[in-house]
Amino acid sequence: MHKPLQGQIALVTGASSGIGEGVAQALADAGARVAINYHSHAEPAEQLAAKIVAQGGDAFAVGADVADEAQVDAMFDAVIRRYGTVDIVVANSGLQQDAAFRTMTLDQWHRVIDTNLTGQFLTARRAVHEFERRGPRAVSKALGKIVCMSSVHEVIPWAGHVNYAASKGGIQMMMKSLAQEVAPQRIRVNSIAPGAIRTPINKDAWDSPKALDKLLTLIPYGRVGEVEDIGRVAVWLASDDSDYVVGTTLFVDGGMTLYPGFADNG
Ligand code: NAD
Repeated sequence: MHKPLQGQIALVTGASSGIGEGVAQALADAGARVAINYHSHAEPAEQLAAKIVAQGGDAFAVGADVADEAQVDAMFDAVIRRYGTVDIVVANSGLQQDAAFRTMTLDQWHRVIDTNLTGQFLTARRAVHEFERRGPRAVSKALGKIVCMSSVHEVIPWAGHVNYAASKGGIQMMMKSLAQEVAPQRIRVNSIAPGAIRTPINKDAWDSPKALDKLLTLIPYGRVGEVEDIGRVAVWLASDDSDYVVGTTLFVDGGMTLYPGFADNG
């Protein structure tokens, strides 16, 4: 089996569930050694690491709150101690704290912005420092690769989720501005914008037939996405196969951003 990430080291934040878990598994299947970040519950991350090891790969779990600068530094230090450096960083951690705008608390605003946007800033900044500290490696054409986990809500407004949509809109311009800034050092920064992927974050939207029918009206391709759909794209963005892809958001959404409401509207 072709292993495009053989010899490379990856860190995936928020990788004890959902998309992060799927991405960590896909990167491991592609040959990378993988650091699996979790926030508060070590056990699922340790189980995933054990599974990857049992499959013949190499992985370990590392705890950190990505919104905390010291914890992000400690997480990178742990990865560097264990594997020497890191080549691929997937800034995936995210959460929702939904509320109507009128009643949204400052705490709900801060929690989402701190985790989703500031967390990606802290993770990407330390990744850039590490890529520059250790210099080029023969395993990849790029000095390093950063993949930001955005959302279709970096472009689709979302009533009742103003904090979340603002965080993802912020990721769009953070990613592009950062990509422009570090491309001369051959660091590639890109985003994945998932549509509706079957994970714990959006369980209410797919776990009853009624909710699923409603959700499917937003997806021209006619199915909910799976974490493997995102994992395959993350592997590609992390590999030399995408070496000329810089500062791009890849929408992986079954057509959700095609304004499906207009399909039969005039
Ligand atoms: P999830 O809830 O399964 O995963 C989110 C992960 O982030 C969890 O493992 C959680 O522990 C972690 N996390 C939360 N706060 C953290 C913190 N402070 N520090 C470290 N980790 C933290 O949901 P998911 O769907 O897998 O979401 C992963 C990413 O994908 C998020 O950024 C989310 O916004 C994005 N996304 C998901 C969908 C979807 O349909 N599922 C769509 C678009 C974007």
